Amino acid sequence: MIGIESGLDAELERLAREDLYRTRRVVESAQGVELQCGGRKLINFCSNDYLGLANHPAVVKAFQDGAARYGVGSGSAHLICGHGRAHHALEEELAEFTGRDRALLFSTGYMANIGVISALTGRGDTVFEDRLNHASLLDGGLLSGARFKRYRHADAEGLLDSLSRTEGRAMIVTDGVFSMDGDLAPLDVLSQIAKDQDTCLMVDDAHGLGVIGDKGRGIVEHFGLTQQQVPILVGTLGKAFGTFGAFVAGSETLIETLIQKARTYIYTTALPPAVAEATRAALNILIEDQWRRENLNDLVRRFRRGAEQLGFPLMPSNSAIQPILIGDSRRAVEIGKRLLDDGFWVGAIRPPTVPQGSARLRVTFSALHDEQQVDRLLESLAKSISQ
Ligand code: PMP
Repeated sequence: MIGIESGLDAELERLAREDLYRTRRVVESAQGVELQCGGRKLINFCSNDYLGLANHPAVVKAFQDGAARYGVGSGSAHLICGHGRAHHALEEELAEFTGRDRALLFSTGYMANIGVISALTGRGDTVFEDRLNHASLLDGGLLSGARFKRYRHADAEGLLDSLSRTEGRAMIVTDGVFSMDGDLAPLDVLSQIAKDQDTCLMVDDAHGLGVIGDKGRGIVEHFGLTQQQVPILVGTLGKAFGTFGAFVAGSETLIETLIQKARTYIYTTALPPAVAEATRAALNILIEDQWRRENLNDLVRRFRRGAEQLGFPLMPSNSAIQPILIGDSRRAVEIGKRLLDDGFWVGAIRPPTVPQGSARLRVTFSALHDEQQVDRLLESLAKSISQ
């Protein structure tokens, strides 16, 4: 036998050689469009805090009041004694916000996705997933024990073809806004296919909720679809909501099934109640502050106009996620470093997070950026890409 550790150093060296080594930077300040990092001020273009709520005074206050009232830890899983008033109220408010019968909190989006897919499908079933779905959805499909089929990105025809040749129960699973591309799933077509093929549709709208749709209700609002047409909706709270955690929203039967069967719901500690209180405050702001979505959309349009004029290879995205395709991993990392030298923090995303040969700069926007910051980013990008 050979110890597992024996190959680890060689594997780390390989990752470094291929420019795929991941590193972290320590942030010294609160989250926001300006971050303090390594003793320097950086303009943050890589966060998912799309509406600028992570450090909003009312959200911070709700968190502090929640901790003063309920303490920090929730003490146990929801099904033991961890399900508190704050969690319950948040679930009711999220159900109302999404226009669904009920909502159920999970501790993270990763756990929600694994929990839902593996609770609802198993051996003999088939899970169909978009090739570019988030890792947690792909892992959920793999862990479920169901047959696992991936279709070409947004290829509804290919999906239909494969689905119509499949026996037994099936489920279609898709990101709403694709996390590394920023484009929207063709949810209207997918929901029609699901209906025609008598199949269930699940959408993970982690990057759409709060941002897409007039009222910020995400991709389901954008396409004007109902709970019946998209029976399973997953939302995460660590992005536009600015807090932490996730939820699933759908019918009474769906939620009761998840409570009975989703292992990542049953066997894990409930979110701190103060996080639920902070999220309730964030939800109110997200609903009320229409200007945040408007600002965000204006900034995205301004960026795309400028980037097109400069000839950057943009992707077809109108969301807060605006990738610039670079291709080569080393080049993406180098450009990222040049941007950092100029005071801009943009994520350089490489395989296996994105397909081979499609490394990219993933620029993300916040409602709290201003036009000048966007213009300066464009200037720095032009300089860094042309070097
Ligand atoms: N779904 C998508 C589409 C995501 O991008 C992410 C995380 N970035 C998740 C789920 C996981 O959510 P969480 O961070 O709450 O685990």
